[in-house]
Amino acid sequence: MTKEDEIPDWVGAQEFYDKYEPKEILGRGVSSVVRRCVDKRTSQEYAVKVIDITPSDKMTPQEIEEIREATVKEIDILKKVFGQDNIIQLKDCYESKAFFFLVFDLMKRGELFDYLTEKVTLSEKETRKIMRALLEVVQFLHSQNIVHRDLKPENILLDDEMNIKLTDFGFSVQIQPGQRLNEVCGTPGYLAPEIIECSMDPNHIGYATAVDIWSSGVIMYTLLAGSPPFWHRKQMLMLRMILAGKYDFSSPEWEDRSDTVKDLISRMLVVDPRQRYTASDALNHPFFSQYVVAEVRQFSPYRRFKVICMTVLATMRIYCNYRRAKPVTKEVIKSDPYAVKPIRKLIDACAFKIYGHWVKKGQTQNRAALFENTPKAILLSITAEADESPLHTW
Ligand code: ADP
Ligand code: MG
Repeated sequence: MTKEDEIPDWVGAQEFYDKYEPKEILGRGVSSVVRRCVDKRTSQEYAVKVIDITPSDKMTPQEIEEIREATVKEIDILKKVFGQDNIIQLKDCYESKAFFFLVFDLMKRGELFDYLTEKVTLSEKETRKIMRALLEVVQFLHSQNIVHRDLKPENILLDDEMNIKLTDFGFSVQIQPGQRLNEVCGTPGYLAPEIIECSMDPNHIGYATAVDIWSSGVIMYTLLAGSPPFWHRKQMLMLRMILAGKYDFSSPEWEDRSDTVKDLISRMLVVDPRQRYTASDALNHPFFSQYVVAEVRQFSPYRRFKVICMTVLATMRIYCNYRRAKPVTKEVIKSDPYAVKPIRKLIDACAFKIYGHWVKKGQTQNRAALFENTPKAILLSITAEADESPLHTW
């Protein structure tokens, strides 16, 4: 490497280090590490995504060039979506020959994934708030012909007021109207069937924005059930389930969920992308309007009567269910604690704390399989390894 080659590299990185103090790791991807960082002048906290493009034995020059090009595209899209309410904002950006530094607002509450795992399942009310914001963002992206292609709870962050911020535009692409894509990318459990078909058929007509609606449907299902709709220990079988649109609402978590919410999910998880809801269709679904409409309506004696009848019926139903429910005795807690809903939630939340990852992967997985999983100690050793990442050794 000549002296001239070295200078621009040093300058790009030095500018970042002059302005920011990098701190602990918040998350990591295939070729990036996200750290908390502090603006030295204002003491304001941010998150910096450091993308490694250093030539190494692990990656060929061609792979490095691909990562570089993908990062340039990611920055370009981040600039295009700047200022949108529920999208993370790129504050600053530096490029050197070895690293890209992308500075974002810090989301202290972290990923929706971790929040969900801690809570196990979310209520319909909370799901409504999250999904409305997510679908509004998707509607905006699609109006700009931008396909995100990696919607999942790990890429949805939460701000201090528990509002969502969509992040990770690493796979995003802006297409021409009517253009179709064929590239296979995304995260297996969230892949739309047409993306998988593209990997099997080189003459496939391709896919477009509808893939984001499929992933949104998978997210919505997961928020309510605490486990994804398509999961199998063998990835090949999981992909076959996706291709066939094979999922159900049979787990106990669905017992108290409304038909309205199930209806919306089933219109998003439609195998044929032409029949699948768009973001606008989803936002117009009764799931999002049922409570708002009731508030703005004028007084009507008929409706008042109907509400009274429904309340009486609901009270009777609750009473009957209560009578039918098994009393929670010491014996039940001893012999089958998992059958008691609050205890079930507690066990699942504790299991996550011990094992450090998703605890429930659907009905096809025996819960005993949880104990075959990698204990958190291994994750801790990965974090330790991460502490020796480029930022520290720079
Ligand atoms: P990758 O492309 O490697 O998946 P992401 O942009 O998704 O990178 O970031 C990886 C992880 O880093 C996220 O899933 C999240 O946990 C954490 N992270 C990213 N951006 C922020 C942020 N602005 N605030 C807090 N955590 C973040
Ligand atoms: Mg990500």
